[in-house]
Amino acid sequence: MEFFGHVIDGQEIRSASDRVFQSIDPYTREPWAEVALGGAEEADLAVAAARRAFDEGPWPRMTAGKRRELLNRFADLIVEHGEELAMADTRDMGKPITQSLGNDVARTAQNFRFFADHAHLAPAEVLPMDTGHHTYTRYEAAGVVVAIAPWNFPMMLESWKVAPALAWGNTVVLKPAEDSPASATILARLALEAGIPAGVFNVVHGYGPDSVGEALTQHPDVDRITFTGESTTGKIIARAASDNLVPVSLELGGKGANVVFADAELDNAVSWSIRAIFTNAGQVCLAGSRIYVQREIFDTFVERFVEAASKMVVGDPKDESTQIGPLSSGVHYTKVRSYFDTIEEAGGRKLIGELRDGWFVTPTVIVDAPDDAPHRCEEIFGPIVTITPFDTEEEVIDEVNSSPYGLNAMLFTDDLTRAHRVSAAFRVGTVWVNCFFIRDLRAPFGGVGLSGVGREGGNFSREFFTEPKAVVMQI
Ligand code: NAD
Repeated sequence: MEFFGHVIDGQEIRSASDRVFQSIDPYTREPWAEVALGGAEEADLAVAAARRAFDEGPWPRMTAGKRRELLNRFADLIVEHGEELAMADTRDMGKPITQSLGNDVARTAQNFRFFADHAHLAPAEVLPMDTGHHTYTRYEAAGVVVAIAPWNFPMMLESWKVAPALAWGNTVVLKPAEDSPASATILARLALEAGIPAGVFNVVHGYGPDSVGEALTQHPDVDRITFTGESTTGKIIARAASDNLVPVSLELGGKGANVVFADAELDNAVSWSIRAIFTNAGQVCLAGSRIYVQREIFDTFVERFVEAASKMVVGDPKDESTQIGPLSSGVHYTKVRSYFDTIEEAGGRKLIGELRDGWFVTPTVIVDAPDDAPHRCEEIFGPIVTITPFDTEEEVIDEVNSSPYGLNAMLFTDDLTRAHRVSAAFRVGTVWVNCFFIRDLRAPFGGVGLSGVGREGGNFSREFFTEPKAVVMQI
């Protein structure tokens, strides 16, 4: 069985007490890797290593250009080791290999390249004042960053945090999710191989509550906490961070609404709507899990959507033809299944969807779900979608905005004016018009309400990972 250790101060190590946990392959439901199980002791070691590297090491003192060079070398190694990284995520959490290799590896490398370039090239403001003084801004590294990540896009979401933190001169302690530990250790090995100094990028493994995750968020020697995960966990982490007055960025859950107006180009709307909910077996914070279709085209849309969903290939995630793998773990399968088992009880009607041997739920489409059905209101994080008709623009805007989540929404229409008007009215962090999941790394990414606090991307990441300092010059 493969072993994945903590990477602290440039060394891959086991836990002090040699405690380990197993990572279960959700397709075989057998352990495929053994992982060091950290606790408060490893949290202390990792934070101390990151602190030393920040206070005494070369990384924060290097030019941004030199950091850019090393981070680009790191990105090259990520691409070179793409198959190993992709297989680690696929075996850890069941993501189809075509997605982990075809999408996530490339996006991870791209995130390191983008933030390295951004930190090197970003201008800083100079403000000429009436008094004749000039004020300029210095973006100085914040210090030791703790990054806590979920399991649904392991390496890719980790890179969203680690890349800007490193590019701006910080040092990092990353705790990947316990269900997807392997790729983080591989990334840390590659960072060392790229020449990123010891102690700059540390990885510790373990659980959240009463474990290494909690110890990291309560640690007094941490300067930033960046977290992606469930909204309930986000609240716990925000409370822990407030005890030490540590700025925290929270990317949390979602209940993405997907609104299809009668004038939309139907092929395009169906095709994106399928990808929006069934990519990664619906285990996507942005998943379009509640679809609203204008009544004139409701029946046609549902027919086309069900036809496309029923053709999706469900199976072994290591097989290149598979589009939907198993759910990520036994615990998560039980959660998603509890929604599957209560569709009729909650007043909905299932058009397609079945449970298969193992931790599989096939694409499941529900109609007639009442307003308050949990399937329409709660984040299921699985391949289960409701489709509901609507009549007017005002009605659907109210419906979209009624959710306590506000991460994203999709909108399909050929009416340009309506596209702008409705985009402005939605209370969410991102609106996709006639598309889904397209990202510009300079744009803000984040949510309102239960979906989070703060934004990632370009200058938004810079604001979080630096201490901007004003220097006022008399000339
Ligand atoms: P989770 O909250 O259960 O766990 C996320 C991470 O937090 C894990 O590493 C876990 O070990 C750690 N953790 C848990 N409790 C902790 C504690 N008390 N202290 C410190 N660390 C703790 O989330 P998950 O199940 O891994 O991920 C799925 C969730 O993530 C979904 O709600 C999804 O919407 C959300 N998500 C959001 C985004 C976004 O960008 N907004 C992206 C991906 C996933």
